[in-house]
Amino acid sequence: MKQRSDGATVLLGMPEFVVGAQLKVGRELWLMVETTADVVGCEGCGSRAVGHGRRRVNVRDLPLADRPVVLVWAKRLWRCPDPDCAVGTWSEEVDDIAPRAALTERARAEICRLVGEAGHSVAQVARGFGVGWHTAMAAVRDHGRPRVDHLSRLGAPRALGVDEHLFLAASAEHPTLLVTGFVDLDRHRLLDVVQGRTAQGVSGWLAARPAPWRAAIDAVTLDTYAGYARGLADGLPHAQLVVDHFHAVRLANAALDEVCRRVQQETLGHRGRKGDPLYRIRRQLLVAHERLTERGWAHIQTGLDVGDPAGEVGAAYLAKELLREVYATRSPRQARRRLERFYAHCRSAEVVELRRLATNRAPLGARDPGLAPHRAVQRAHRGHEPTDQEDQTDRPRLPQLRELSPPAPPALRRRMAHSTSRTNQRPPTTLGRVEIP
Ligand SMILES: [Zn+2]
Repeated sequence: MKQRSDGATVLLGMPEFVVGAQLKVGRELWLMVETTADVVGCEGCGSRAVGHGRRRVNVRDLPLADRPVVLVWAKRLWRCPDPDCAVGTWSEEVDDIAPRAALTERARAEICRLVGEAGHSVAQVARGFGVGWHTAMAAVRDHGRPRVDHLSRLGAPRALGVDEHLFLAASAEHPTLLVTGFVDLDRHRLLDVVQGRTAQGVSGWLAARPAPWRAAIDAVTLDTYAGYARGLADGLPHAQLVVDHFHAVRLANAALDEVCRRVQQETLGHRGRKGDPLYRIRRQLLVAHERLTERGWAHIQTGLDVGDPAGEVGAAYLAKELLREVYATRSPRQARRRLERFYAHCRSAEVVELRRLATNRAPLGARDPGLAPHRAVQRAHRGHEPTDQEDQTDRPRLPQLRELSPPAPPALRRRMAHSTSRTNQRPPTTLGRVEIP
C-alpha cells in the first residue's frame, strides 16, 4: 500500500487491517484497508499459497465522528500451487467481517444495541450506517438471537420489558411497520424482536421459552397497549404487570389534559380559545414542575385561580407531579410511600379522571395493575397485602397544590444542567415542603 496511515490504523482498531488512503465521499469516510498477511498456507495440503490478485469489497463499519465509514478492502485472493490439490483458489477472511457481509460484525452488534437498548428505530439506525433497512434489521435479528439461545446460560431475568419499536415509518410503498422487543431489564439486554404488535406475538414468544425461565420472571414492564396485557396474561399469568415510567407519566399528562378540557367546557361552555385562562396555561401545565420558571409557575397559579374554580385542574397537576416523584427516588421504601401518596391523592380528589388514573382498569383490561410503576415498589409490594388496607393504618398526609415549592431558580437549574454528578438531577426544592410521614 502506497500511503499507509498509522494514525488511521490505530483509530480503526481492527488488528487485522492497516489503513492506507482516506477519502471523503459525500458525508462518508472511505478508508482503503488491507490485511498484512503475506505468508499463507493452503488449508488442503499446506503448500505456501501464491497470490492470485485482489478483489475490492466495500464493508460498512462503525461511524467515525458521526460520519458513516466504508472500509474499501482490497481482499487478497490466493491459489494453491499444487496442481493435485483440490482447494484451488480462495479469498482471505477476517474475524471481524463475515463472508459477503455488507457490515463489520462490530457495526452489526452496534446496530442491534442501538435498536434494542437505546430504542432507536431500525430506519434511523440504517440511515446512520448508510445501509438499507433490511440489512440493519438482519443485524438486529442475528445479534439479538444468540442471546435468546443462551437464555439458560444467562438465567432468567426477574423483570422483563415488552415494548413496541417503530421499525419502518409509513411511506407510499408500505404501511408503518411495528415490532415488539423483549428486554431483559436486569441486564439491559435485548432478548428478541418479533414482528407486529399483537397479543399473539407476545404469548407465542413466551410459549417458546422454557417453563423454568418463564417462572422466574416476576415483573413485566409494558406500555398501556391492551394487546400486550392480554398476551402477558396468557404467557406469564403469575407475573405482575407494571406500566413503565414513560408511559405512566404520559397517562398522568393525558388525565391532566382531559380534566383541563372538561373544566374548560363546564365553566365557559366552549372549547378552549385564545385568551381563556386554562387555554393559556395548557402547555405550561404539562412541563415538569422543576423546569418551570418562577414566572411560569405564577402564570399557572393565576390561570387556575380564574379558570379552575373547583380546583380540579390543580388536583390533576398535583397528581402528575406526585407520580413523577415516585420515579425520582432509588429507595424502594420511599418509592412505595410516594406511590401510596399518589394513589391516596387520586382517590380523595373529587375528580373522575384521577379516580380512573388510580384504578386504570379501562385501558388495560381487568387483570391489570393500573399504575404500579416502580419496580422496586413491585418488590416491596410482594406478599399480597392489599394497598387499600395499608392505607388505613399508614395514611399519608395529602399534599396541597399550594405546597408545591416554587420551581428551581434559573441559576440553580443552569448549575444542575452543567453538573457532572448524575446522582441528584432533580432540584431539592421540588415538593420540598411536603414531608413524607
Ligand atoms: Zn493445496
